Amino acid sequence: MSLAHGRSYLAIPGPSVMPDRVLNAMHVAAPNIYEGDLVEMVAGLVPDLKAAARTDGHVAIYIANGHGAWEAALSNVLSRGDKVLVLATGSFGHGWGEMARALGAEVEVMDFGNRAPIDMGQVEARLRQDTARDIRAVMAVHVDTATSIRNDIGALRNAMDAAGHPALLMADCIASLGCDRFEMDDWGVDVMVTASQKGLMTPPGMAFVFFSDIAAEAREHADCVSAYWDWKPRAAPQHFYQYFGGTAPTHHLLGLRAALDLIAEEGGMDAVWARHDRLAHAIWAAFDAWGADGPLELNVADPVHRSRAVTAVRVGAPHGTALREWVEARAGVTLGIGLGMADPDDPAWHGFFRVGHMGHVNAHMVLGVLGVIEAGLQAIDLPHGTGGLAAAARVISAA
Ligand SMILES: *Cc1c(COP(=O)(O)O)cnc(C)c1O
Repeated sequence: MSLAHGRSYLAIPGPSVMPDRVLNAMHVAAPNIYEGDLVEMVAGLVPDLKAAARTDGHVAIYIANGHGAWEAALSNVLSRGDKVLVLATGSFGHGWGEMARALGAEVEVMDFGNRAPIDMGQVEARLRQDTARDIRAVMAVHVDTATSIRNDIGALRNAMDAAGHPALLMADCIASLGCDRFEMDDWGVDVMVTASQKGLMTPPGMAFVFFSDIAAEAREHADCVSAYWDWKPRAAPQHFYQYFGGTAPTHHLLGLRAALDLIAEEGGMDAVWARHDRLAHAIWAAFDAWGADGPLELNVADPVHRSRAVTAVRVGAPHGTALREWVEARAGVTLGIGLGMADPDDPAWHGFFRVGHMGHVNAHMVLGVLGVIEAGLQAIDLPHGTGGLAAAARVISAA
Protein backbone atom coordinates (compact mmCIF):
# COMPACT_ATOMS: atom_id res chain seq x y z
CA MET A 1 0.00 0.00 0.00
CA SER A 2 1.23 3.50 -0.77
CA LEU A 3 1.12 6.07 2.00
CA ALA A 4 2.40 8.79 -0.34
CA HIS A 5 -0.86 10.69 -0.78
CA GLY A 6 -0.35 13.95 1.08
CA ARG A 7 2.19 16.71 0.68
CA SER A 8 5.23 15.36 -1.12
CA TYR A 9 8.75 16.34 -0.09
CA LEU A 10 11.59 16.82 -2.56
CA ALA A 11 14.64 16.09 -0.39
CA ILE A 12 17.18 16.33 -3.22
CA PRO A 13 20.11 18.76 -3.07
CA GLY A 14 18.56 21.33 -5.35
CA PRO A 15 16.22 22.57 -6.43
CA SER A 16 15.18 22.84 -2.81
CA VAL A 17 11.77 23.19 -1.17
CA MET A 18 10.18 26.54 -1.97
CA PRO A 19 8.40 28.31 0.91
CA ASP A 20 4.72 29.11 0.34
CA ARG A 21 5.60 32.78 0.79
CA VAL A 22 8.02 32.56 -2.13
CA LEU A 23 5.45 30.77 -4.31
CA ASN A 24 2.70 33.23 -3.41
CA ALA A 25 4.91 36.25 -4.05
CA MET A 26 5.39 35.05 -7.63
CA HIS A 27 1.68 34.45 -8.26
CA VAL A 28 0.94 37.93 -9.57
CA ALA A 29 0.31 39.63 -12.91
CA ALA A 30 3.34 40.82 -14.90
CA PRO A 31 4.78 43.94 -13.28
CA ASN A 32 6.02 47.08 -15.03
CA ILE A 33 9.75 46.82 -15.70
CA TYR A 34 10.25 50.53 -16.44
CA GLU A 35 9.16 52.18 -13.20
CA GLY A 36 7.35 51.51 -9.97
CA ASP A 37 7.51 48.83 -7.30
CA LEU A 38 9.72 46.27 -9.06
CA VAL A 39 12.37 48.81 -10.02
CA GLU A 40 12.49 50.15 -6.47
CA MET A 41 12.52 46.68 -4.95
CA VAL A 42 15.59 45.52 -6.91
CA ALA A 43 17.77 48.32 -5.50
CA GLY A 44 16.98 46.94 -2.05
CA LEU A 45 17.82 43.35 -3.04
CA VAL A 46 21.45 44.14 -3.72
CA PRO A 47 22.48 44.97 -0.13
CA ASP A 48 20.58 41.94 1.15
CA LEU A 49 22.37 39.66 -1.31
CA LYS A 50 25.72 41.09 -0.22
CA ALA A 51 24.78 40.55 3.41
CA ALA A 52 24.01 36.90 2.63
CA ALA A 53 27.46 36.57 1.02
CA ARG A 54 29.11 38.54 3.85
CA THR A 55 30.73 41.00 1.49
CA ASP A 56 30.98 44.72 0.92
CA GLY A 57 32.15 43.95 -2.63
CA HIS A 58 30.14 43.82 -5.83
CA VAL A 59 27.38 41.55 -7.14
CA ALA A 60 26.26 40.83 -10.69
CA ILE A 61 22.90 39.10 -11.28
CA TYR A 62 22.33 36.75 -14.22
CA ILE A 63 19.28 34.99 -15.64
CA ALA A 64 20.99 31.62 -15.52
CA ASN A 65 21.53 28.50 -13.46
CA GLY A 66 24.71 27.69 -11.59
CA HIS A 67 26.52 26.72 -14.78
CA GLY A 68 25.83 30.25 -16.04
CA ALA A 69 27.40 31.70 -12.89
CA TRP A 70 30.43 29.45 -13.42
CA GLU A 71 30.95 30.78 -16.94
CA ALA A 72 30.20 34.38 -15.97
CA ALA A 73 32.76 34.31 -13.17
CA LEU A 74 35.52 32.73 -15.24
CA SER A 75 34.99 34.83 -18.35
CA ASN A 76 35.31 38.08 -16.40
CA VAL A 77 38.73 37.32 -14.94
CA LEU A 78 40.46 35.02 -17.44
CA SER A 79 42.18 35.50 -20.76
CA ARG A 80 42.70 32.67 -23.24
CA GLY A 81 45.74 30.64 -22.24
CA ASP A 82 45.66 31.71 -18.58
CA LYS A 83 46.49 28.97 -16.13
CA VAL A 84 44.05 28.01 -13.37
CA LEU A 85 44.38 25.54 -10.52
CA VAL A 86 41.23 23.51 -9.82
CA LEU A 87 40.92 21.84 -6.40
CA ALA A 88 38.42 19.02 -6.93
CA THR A 89 36.58 17.16 -4.17
CA GLY A 90 33.75 15.80 -6.30
CA SER A 91 31.90 16.21 -9.60
CA PHE A 92 31.21 19.91 -9.33
CA GLY A 93 34.87 20.87 -8.99
CA HIS A 94 35.65 18.88 -12.13
CA GLY A 95 32.68 20.47 -13.89
CA TRP A 96 33.83 24.01 -13.15
CA GLY A 97 37.32 23.10 -14.34
CA GLU A 98 35.88 21.74 -17.62
CA MET A 99 34.15 25.05 -18.15
CA ALA A 100 37.44 26.92 -17.67
CA ARG A 101 39.06 24.61 -20.23
CA ALA A 102 36.26 25.27 -22.72
CA LEU A 103 36.89 29.00 -22.32
CA GLY A 104 40.50 28.47 -23.37
CA ALA A 105 42.21 28.33 -19.99
CA GLU A 106 45.05 25.94 -19.22
CA VAL A 107 43.56 23.86 -16.43
CA GLU A 108 45.51 21.96 -13.80
CA VAL A 109 43.39 19.77 -11.54
CA MET A 110 44.44 18.63 -8.07
CA ASP A 111 42.01 15.80 -7.36
CA PHE A 112 41.45 14.98 -3.70
CA GLY A 113 38.99 12.20 -4.48
CA ASN A 114 35.39 11.76 -3.37
CA ARG A 115 35.80 11.38 0.37
CA ALA A 116 38.41 13.88 1.55
CA PRO A 117 38.63 17.68 1.60
CA ILE A 118 41.27 19.81 -0.08
CA ASP A 119 44.70 19.19 1.48
CA MET A 120 45.91 22.74 2.17
CA GLY A 121 49.54 21.63 2.62
CA GLN A 122 49.59 20.20 -0.90
CA VAL A 123 48.04 23.36 -2.31
CA GLU A 124 50.56 25.57 -0.54
CA ALA A 125 53.43 23.42 -1.84
CA ARG A 126 52.07 23.56 -5.41
CA LEU A 127 51.72 27.34 -5.27
CA ARG A 128 55.26 27.73 -3.93
CA GLN A 129 56.52 25.75 -6.94
CA ASP A 130 54.84 28.25 -9.25
CA THR A 131 57.75 30.68 -9.00
CA ALA A 132 56.77 32.40 -12.27
CA ARG A 133 53.32 33.07 -10.74
CA ASP A 134 51.61 31.67 -13.84
CA ILE A 135 48.53 30.49 -11.97
CA ARG A 136 45.91 33.22 -12.36
CA ALA A 137 43.18 31.71 -10.23
CA VAL A 138 42.62 28.97 -7.66
CA MET A 139 39.12 27.49 -8.03
CA ALA A 140 37.46 25.59 -5.19
CA VAL A 141 33.96 24.36 -4.41
CA HIS A 142 32.90 25.23 -0.86
CA VAL A 143 30.43 22.33 -0.62
CA ASP A 144 30.64 19.76 -3.38
CA THR A 145 27.03 18.62 -3.73
CA ALA A 146 28.01 15.24 -5.15
CA THR A 147 30.20 14.15 -2.24
CA SER A 148 28.86 16.49 0.52
CA ILE A 149 32.44 17.44 1.36
CA ARG A 150 32.79 20.93 2.79
CA ASN A 151 36.10 22.64 2.15
CA ASP A 152 37.60 25.23 4.50
CA ILE A 153 37.82 28.26 2.22
CA GLY A 154 39.38 30.46 4.93
CA ALA A 155 42.17 27.90 5.33
CA LEU A 156 42.63 27.91 1.55
CA ARG A 157 43.17 31.68 1.65
CA ASN A 158 45.73 31.14 4.44
CA ALA A 159 47.55 28.53 2.32
CA MET A 160 47.66 30.92 -0.65
CA ASP A 161 48.96 33.72 1.58
CA ALA A 162 51.54 31.41 3.17
CA ALA A 163 52.84 30.66 -0.33
CA GLY A 164 52.81 34.39 -1.07
CA HIS A 165 50.86 33.67 -4.25
CA PRO A 166 48.81 36.44 -5.93
CA ALA A 167 46.26 34.17 -7.71
CA LEU A 168 42.58 35.04 -7.39
CA LEU A 169 40.61 32.85 -4.99
CA MET A 170 37.35 31.72 -6.64
CA ALA A 171 34.71 29.82 -4.67
CA ASP A 172 31.57 27.95 -5.76
CA CYS A 173 28.92 28.42 -3.04
CA ILE A 174 25.99 27.22 -5.14
CA ALA A 175 25.11 24.46 -2.66
CA SER A 176 26.33 26.10 0.51
CA LEU A 177 25.08 29.69 0.52
CA GLY A 178 22.40 30.02 3.17
CA CYS A 179 23.28 26.62 4.69
CA ASP A 180 26.98 26.44 5.62
CA ARG A 181 28.82 29.42 7.14
CA PHE A 182 30.58 31.41 4.46
CA GLU A 183 32.45 34.70 5.02
CA MET A 184 33.47 36.16 1.66
CA ASP A 185 35.39 39.19 2.91
CA ASP A 186 36.85 37.70 6.09
CA TRP A 187 38.11 34.70 4.13
CA GLY A 188 39.61 36.84 1.36
CA VAL A 189 37.53 35.37 -1.46
CA ASP A 190 37.84 37.30 -4.73
CA VAL A 191 35.01 35.72 -6.72
CA MET A 192 32.05 33.75 -5.37
CA VAL A 193 29.28 32.17 -7.42
CA THR A 194 25.87 31.03 -6.29
CA ALA A 195 22.37 30.45 -7.65
CA SER A 196 18.77 30.90 -6.57
CA GLN A 197 17.49 27.35 -6.23
CA LYS A 198 19.29 25.93 -3.22
CA GLY A 199 19.79 27.83 0.06
CA LEU A 200 18.03 30.85 -1.45
CA MET A 201 14.75 28.87 -1.81
CA THR A 202 13.74 30.40 -5.17
CA PRO A 203 13.16 28.56 -8.48
CA PRO A 204 16.19 27.76 -10.66
CA GLY A 205 16.88 30.58 -13.10
CA MET A 206 18.82 33.27 -11.27
CA ALA A 207 22.56 33.23 -10.60
CA PHE A 208 24.86 35.60 -8.75
CA VAL A 209 28.54 36.43 -9.06
CA PHE A 210 30.07 38.35 -6.17
CA PHE A 211 33.48 39.90 -6.68
CA SER A 212 36.11 41.90 -4.82
CA ASP A 213 37.90 45.06 -5.94
CA ILE A 214 40.91 42.89 -6.80
CA ALA A 215 38.74 40.79 -9.13
CA ALA A 216 37.23 43.96 -10.59
CA GLU A 217 40.75 45.07 -11.46
CA ALA A 218 41.49 41.65 -13.04
CA ARG A 219 38.40 42.14 -15.22
CA GLU A 220 40.14 45.11 -16.89
CA HIS A 221 42.77 42.76 -18.33
CA ALA A 222 40.59 39.73 -19.16
CA ASP A 223 39.83 38.95 -22.80
CA CYS A 224 37.29 36.13 -22.46
CA VAL A 225 34.26 38.17 -21.54
CA SER A 226 31.53 38.99 -24.05
CA ALA A 227 29.07 41.87 -23.68
CA TYR A 228 26.26 39.75 -22.26
CA TRP A 229 28.33 38.14 -19.51
CA ASP A 230 30.26 41.30 -18.60
CA TRP A 231 29.73 41.90 -14.90
CA LYS A 232 30.52 45.65 -15.03
CA PRO A 233 27.15 47.06 -16.17
CA ARG A 234 25.28 44.49 -14.06
CA ALA A 235 27.12 45.46 -10.87
CA ALA A 236 26.95 49.23 -11.52
CA PRO A 237 23.96 49.80 -13.83
CA GLN A 238 23.18 53.22 -15.27
CA HIS A 239 19.76 51.93 -16.35
CA PHE A 240 17.51 49.34 -14.75
CA TYR A 241 17.73 46.85 -17.65
CA GLN A 242 21.51 46.69 -17.23
CA TYR A 243 21.15 44.77 -13.96
CA PHE A 244 19.99 41.85 -16.10
CA GLY A 245 21.39 42.61 -19.55
CA GLY A 246 17.77 42.95 -20.75
CA THR A 247 14.32 42.22 -19.34
CA ALA A 248 14.32 41.60 -15.61
CA PRO A 249 13.48 38.08 -14.34
CA THR A 250 10.37 39.64 -12.83
CA HIS A 251 8.84 36.73 -10.92
CA HIS A 252 12.13 35.30 -9.76
CA LEU A 253 12.92 38.68 -8.25
CA LEU A 254 9.60 38.71 -6.39
CA GLY A 255 10.27 35.22 -5.09
CA LEU A 256 13.82 36.10 -4.06
CA ARG A 257 12.58 39.17 -2.18
CA ALA A 258 10.24 36.94 -0.17
CA ALA A 259 13.06 34.44 0.49
CA LEU A 260 15.43 37.15 1.73
CA ASP A 261 12.64 38.48 3.96
CA LEU A 262 12.27 35.01 5.49
CA ILE A 263 16.00 34.92 6.19
CA ALA A 264 15.87 38.36 7.83
CA GLU A 265 12.85 37.39 9.95
CA GLU A 266 14.63 34.28 11.17
CA GLY A 267 17.47 36.46 12.46
CA GLY A 268 19.81 36.68 9.49
CA MET A 269 22.54 34.36 8.32
CA ASP A 270 23.81 33.34 11.76
CA ALA A 271 20.37 32.02 12.71
CA VAL A 272 19.96 30.25 9.36
CA TRP A 273 23.39 28.61 9.71
CA ALA A 274 22.62 27.54 13.29
CA ARG A 275 19.38 25.85 12.16
CA HIS A 276 21.14 24.01 9.34
CA ASP A 277 23.91 22.98 11.70
CA ARG A 278 21.56 21.42 14.23
CA LEU A 279 19.44 19.70 11.57
CA ALA A 280 22.57 18.28 9.92
CA HIS A 281 23.74 16.90 13.26
CA ALA A 282 20.35 15.18 13.66
CA ILE A 283 20.73 13.57 10.23
CA TRP A 284 24.28 12.39 10.98
CA ALA A 285 23.18 10.96 14.33
CA ALA A 286 20.52 8.86 12.60
CA PHE A 287 22.94 7.55 9.99
CA ASP A 288 25.59 6.80 12.62
CA ALA A 289 23.06 4.64 14.50
CA TRP A 290 21.86 2.83 11.37
CA GLY A 291 25.46 2.34 10.23
CA ALA A 292 26.45 0.62 13.48
CA ASP A 293 25.36 -2.61 11.78
CA GLY A 294 25.20 -3.43 8.05
CA PRO A 295 26.56 -1.61 5.00
CA LEU A 296 25.25 1.92 5.46
CA GLU A 297 27.80 4.72 5.99
CA LEU A 298 28.15 8.45 5.47
CA ASN A 299 30.43 9.37 2.58
CA VAL A 300 32.42 11.84 4.70
CA ALA A 301 33.76 10.20 7.85
CA ASP A 302 34.88 13.32 9.75
CA PRO A 303 32.02 15.69 10.72
CA VAL A 304 34.43 18.65 10.40
CA HIS A 305 34.46 18.13 6.64
CA ARG A 306 30.71 17.54 6.20
CA SER A 307 28.28 19.98 4.66
CA ARG A 308 25.19 21.30 6.46
CA ALA A 309 23.33 21.46 3.12
CA VAL A 310 23.52 17.90 1.77
CA THR A 311 24.50 14.46 3.03
CA ALA A 312 25.90 11.79 0.71
CA VAL A 313 25.36 8.18 1.80
CA ARG A 314 26.99 4.89 0.74
CA VAL A 315 24.84 1.83 1.15
CA GLY A 316 25.97 -0.67 -1.48
CA ALA A 317 24.20 -1.68 -4.70
CA PRO A 318 21.35 -2.10 -5.34
CA HIS A 319 20.16 -0.80 -1.98
CA GLY A 320 20.52 2.94 -2.72
CA THR A 321 18.13 2.79 -5.66
CA ALA A 322 15.82 0.34 -3.85
CA LEU A 323 15.54 2.67 -0.88
CA ARG A 324 14.95 5.77 -3.03
CA GLU A 325 12.23 3.98 -4.98
CA TRP A 326 10.53 2.74 -1.82
CA VAL A 327 10.46 6.09 -0.02
CA GLU A 328 9.22 7.92 -3.10
CA ALA A 329 6.46 5.48 -4.03
CA ARG A 330 5.36 4.57 -0.52
CA ALA A 331 6.06 7.64 1.57
CA GLY A 332 6.07 10.70 -0.71
CA VAL A 333 9.74 11.62 -0.16
CA THR A 334 12.18 11.98 -3.05
CA LEU A 335 15.84 11.45 -2.14
CA GLY A 336 18.78 12.48 -4.31
CA ILE A 337 20.60 10.03 -6.57
CA GLY A 338 24.29 9.34 -6.02
CA LEU A 339 26.37 11.61 -8.24
CA GLY A 340 29.87 10.98 -9.49
CA MET A 341 30.45 7.92 -7.30
CA ALA A 342 30.14 5.36 -10.08
CA ASP A 343 29.44 5.34 -13.80
CA PRO A 344 25.65 5.28 -14.45
CA ASP A 345 26.12 2.05 -16.47
CA ASP A 346 27.97 0.37 -13.60
CA PRO A 347 25.74 -1.67 -11.24
CA ALA A 348 27.65 -0.01 -8.38
CA TRP A 349 25.83 3.23 -9.32
CA HIS A 350 22.82 1.91 -7.39
CA GLY A 351 24.75 1.92 -4.11
CA PHE A 352 24.48 5.62 -3.26
CA PHE A 353 21.94 8.28 -2.39
CA ARG A 354 21.90 11.82 -1.02
CA VAL A 355 19.66 13.72 1.34
CA GLY A 356 19.17 17.40 0.55
CA HIS A 357 18.59 19.59 3.61
CA MET A 358 19.18 23.04 2.19
CA GLY A 359 17.00 26.10 2.52
CA HIS A 360 13.43 25.88 3.78
CA VAL A 361 13.87 22.86 6.05
CA ASN A 362 12.87 22.49 9.68
CA ALA A 363 12.89 19.87 12.42
CA HIS A 364 9.66 18.14 11.46
CA MET A 365 10.73 17.86 7.83
CA VAL A 366 14.07 16.33 8.82
CA LEU A 367 12.47 13.93 11.30
CA GLY A 368 9.94 13.04 8.60
CA VAL A 369 12.64 12.21 6.05
CA LEU A 370 14.59 10.19 8.61
CA GLY A 371 11.44 8.38 9.71
CA VAL A 372 10.60 7.25 6.19
CA ILE A 373 14.22 6.24 5.58
CA GLU A 374 14.04 4.09 8.72
CA ALA A 375 10.80 2.55 7.47
CA GLY A 376 12.38 2.05 4.04
CA LEU A 377 15.43 0.27 5.49
CA GLN A 378 13.05 -2.18 7.16
CA ALA A 379 10.90 -2.55 4.04
CA ILE A 380 13.84 -3.38 1.77
CA ASP A 381 15.25 -5.67 4.45
CA LEU A 382 18.61 -3.98 4.67
CA PRO A 383 20.58 -4.88 7.80
CA HIS A 384 21.05 -1.73 9.88
CA GLY A 385 21.61 -0.60 13.44
CA THR A 386 18.59 0.38 15.50
CA GLY A 387 17.67 3.70 17.05
CA GLY A 388 18.42 6.07 14.16
CA LEU A 389 15.27 8.10 14.49
CA ALA A 390 15.58 8.20 18.28
CA ALA A 391 19.16 9.46 17.98
CA ALA A 392 18.01 12.23 15.66
CA ALA A 393 15.18 13.14 18.04
CA ARG A 394 17.71 13.49 20.87
CA VAL A 395 19.71 16.02 18.81
CA ILE A 396 16.54 17.94 17.97
CA SER A 397 15.25 17.88 21.56
CA ALA A 398 18.44 19.58 22.76
CA ALA A 399 17.64 22.57 20.52
C1 LIG B 1 23.88 22.75 -8.16
C2 LIG B 1 25.34 23.06 -8.23
C3 LIG B 1 25.97 23.50 -9.40
C4 LIG B 1 25.26 23.59 -10.71
O1 LIG B 1 24.16 24.43 -10.68
P1 LIG B 1 23.09 24.34 -11.88
O2 LIG B 1 22.06 25.31 -11.45
O3 LIG B 1 22.62 22.93 -11.93
O4 LIG B 1 23.78 24.75 -13.13
C5 LIG B 1 27.31 23.82 -9.34
N1 LIG B 1 28.01 23.71 -8.21
C6 LIG B 1 27.45 23.26 -7.07
C7 LIG B 1 28.29 23.14 -5.84
C8 LIG B 1 26.10 22.92 -7.04
O5 LIG B 1 25.54 22.48 -5.91
